[in-house]
Amino acid sequence: MNMILLGAPGAGKGTQAELLAQRLSIPAISTGNMLRDAMANGSELGKQVRTYMDGGLLVPDELILSIVADRVAQPDCSNGFILDGVPRTLAQAEALDQKGIGIDHVVSLEIDDDVIERRMTGRRVCSHCGSSYHIDAHPPKTAGICDQCGGELAVRKDDAPETVRRRLEIYHQSTEPLKDYYARSGKLRILDGSQSIEDVQQSILKAIGDLV
Ligand code: ADP
Ligand code: ADP
Ligand code: ZN
Repeated sequence: MNMILLGAPGAGKGTQAELLAQRLSIPAISTGNMLRDAMANGSELGKQVRTYMDGGLLVPDELILSIVADRVAQPDCSNGFILDGVPRTLAQAEALDQKGIGIDHVVSLEIDDDVIERRMTGRRVCSHCGSSYHIDAHPPKTAGICDQCGGELAVRKDDAPETVRRRLEIYHQSTEPLKDYYARSGKLRILDGSQSIEDVQQSILKAIGDLV
């Protein structure tokens, strides 16, 4: 079960990927979380990507492809994985195919840009494990603390309204065309991302044949 979650920034990919990972017992792979970890660790990769990430720009394809190829080759991915936030360009999608990283399902979470801009102002992420929360729609049990790991919740620098608008533009320009790419191979399912977190989860499970 190798699957891709597509969707604009804030569409709910990370939230749904975590729920799917628990249910299906396969890892959720978030390139955004991996890159934020790299920045927090002060690694060479982290230094290379900071300007792109803070500015809401895409990190170059070669860097992304190398971290993803390494990650899916790990033993815990042998029964499948959920890709959250990758591929984001046609070149990344083609490279996954060329590397023989087969994909079974592609789910695109659709949501209007103005709803996203409102969602992002309430997003809080765990600075330790990357879990995603929302102050109203998905609050943690204790304010400011991650339910999963007890880590501290923070606002992402790139969730500032102006940067969100830039990320949305880049999504429409560079990532949305991937829907056509995966529609051609019959793998794409388009779902309404504006439903509640639980309802989106149910529709994903239905789309991948896990629920009847
Ligand atoms: P969101 O969940 O809001 O869509 P992510 O956490 O997936 O955001 O990504 C945050 C940032 O990390 C992006 O704006 C970009 O700079 C970088 N990034 C993550 N994944 C990729 C990717 N596949 N290709 C290029 N850049 C990426
Ligand atoms: P992405 O990974 O696509 O950028 P997230 O999963 O981080 O998106 O969700 C963005 C924000 O919206 C977070 O604050 C999250 O808690 C919240 N959120 C996610 N799904 C929903 C939903 N169905 N309804 C309302 N808020 C949601
Ligand atoms: Zn955490």
